[in-house]
Amino acid sequence: MPEYDLVIVGGGAAGLSLADRMVDVNARRARPLRGALVEPPPGPTSPVPRTWCFWEADGGRWDDLLTARWDDLAVIGPEGTEYRSSAAPYVYKMLRSADVDRRVRERADRHLDQLTLRVTSVVEEPEYATVLAETPAGRQVRHTARWVFDSRPSAPTTAGRTRLLQHFRGWFVRAAAGSFAPDRAVLMDLRPPQPEHGVAFGYVLPLSDNEALVEYTEFGRHALTTPQYERALGDYCAMVDLGGVEVIASEQGTIPMTDAHFPTRRGHRLFRVGTAGGATRPSTGYTFSGVSRQTAAVARALEHDRVPVPPVPHRPRHLAMDAIMLAALDLGRVRGADFFAGLFSDNRLGDVLAFLDGQSRLPREVAMGLSMPIAAMSRTAVEHAWRNLTTRHQRPGD
Ligand SMILES: Cc1cc2nc3c(=O)[nH]c(=O)nc-3n(C[C@H](O)[C@H](O)[C@H](O)COP(=O)(O)OP(=O)(O)OC[C@H]3O[C@@H](n4cnc5c(N)ncnc54)[C@H](O)[C@@H]3O)c2cc1C
Repeated sequence: MPEYDLVIVGGGAAGLSLADRMVDVNARRARPLRGALVEPPPGPTSPVPRTWCFWEADGGRWDDLLTARWDDLAVIGPEGTEYRSSAAPYVYKMLRSADVDRRVRERADRHLDQLTLRVTSVVEEPEYATVLAETPAGRQVRHTARWVFDSRPSAPTTAGRTRLLQHFRGWFVRAAAGSFAPDRAVLMDLRPPQPEHGVAFGYVLPLSDNEALVEYTEFGRHALTTPQYERALGDYCAMVDLGGVEVIASEQGTIPMTDAHFPTRRGHRLFRVGTAGGATRPSTGYTFSGVSRQTAAVARALEHDRVPVPPVPHRPRHLAMDAIMLAALDLGRVRGADFFAGLFSDNRLGDVLAFLDGQSRLPREVAMGLSMPIAAMSRTAVEHAWRNLTTRHQRPGD
C-alpha cells in the first residue's frame, strides 16, 4: 500500500489550489484521502511572493481574501484614447500569494501532511509512484503515493513555433492621500514606446486612495534587466503623473507565452499541474483561473475515485487562435499596441474577457475576429494550418 493517495509537489498557485480542494473532497468522501503538500525550504530559488489577478463572477472561492477588486476597467490606446467600461459579468480581482498560502495551510486538515522537502525526482512503479526528496538537512527521503501532481517548473514536450515571454516588473507605490481613485483601474495602457516585435504596456491597479500597483509589461522574446525595467517604470510613472511616489515593494517575473505543448499526463500516476501542466493561457499569460478549472476537475475525479488526469484548461480552438496571434505578433505582422487597442475598442469588455478566459462561444468569437487585422491573421493562420498538417504527417526520423 502506498503511504499517500496523492502527493502534491510544489506549494504555488496550483499546489495550494489543489490542496485546498482536497479538504472539500474529503468532507464528501466516506474514506478521506491521505495527501502531502511538498514545498522546499525558503531559499534563493523560492518563487517571490506575488499577486494573482484574474476575473470571474462575484461570489468566488477567494472573495473574502481579495486585496482588491474592480467592477470596471480601462484600456488606453497608443494615441491616448481611454476605453473604460464595466467588466460585467465579471469582476477583476487581485489576491496575494502569501494570503492564499496562509489560508490553505490553516484550512488543511489532519489528512494533509505539509512537508518541507526539495523533490529531486519522481519514479513510477506499477502500483504507486515514489517521490524522492531531500530534507533541509540534506538527508534523502522517499514517499510513495497512488498519484503525484507535480507543479515544479518544467519544459514543454514540443518546441512550439513561437516562444514569447510575458515579462514585467511592478512597483507597489504609496503617494499622498487622494492620489488614486480606488475604482479607476487601468488594465492595459498602450502608450509606452513600443518594441519592434511584440507589445509594451503599463497599468495601474489602485489598492486604496494612496496605494497602487504600477506595472510595466512586455510580450517579447527576451526579458529586460532590472535596471531596464526600473527605467521603463520610472518613465511610465512620469507619463501618468506619478513622478514622486514612494516604492514600497516590487514584483518581477516572466510567464511563458507559447504554442509549445505542456501535456498534463506524464505517466500512469504522474501528472503535471499549473504552468507546467499547460494552465497558462498562451495569449495572455493569465494562469490563475486556468489553475482553478484544472484543480476543480482533479477534485471531481478524486471524489469519485476516477483516474484524476488534470485537463489542459483551454479549448483546442482557443489554443489554435492563440498560436496564430502569437506568431503574427512575433513575426511583426501585427502591431501589438494597435491589435490590443482594436480588440478592446471594438468589442464589449465582458465579451473580450470571456474570450480571453476561454468562456466565449464561437459566433461571438467570429464577430470579434472581424475587429482583428484580417489579412495578417489569415496569412499566419494558413501557415499555422500547413505547419500542423506537415508536422502531423512527419514520422520520427523523417
Ligand atoms: C510575479 C508574477 C506575477 C504573476 N501574476 C499573475 C496574475 O496576476 N494572474 C495570473 O493569472 N497569473 C500570474 N502569474 C502567472 C502564474 O499565475 C504564476 O506564475 C503562478 O504562480 C503559477 O502557478 P504554478 O503553481 O504553476 O507555479 P508556482 O506558483 O511557481 O509554483 C511552483 C512551486 O513549485 C515549488 N518547487 C520548485 N522546485 C521544487 C522542488 N524541487 N521540490 C518541491 N517543490 C518545488 C516552488 O517552490 C513553487 O512553490 C504571475 C507570475 C509571476 C512570476
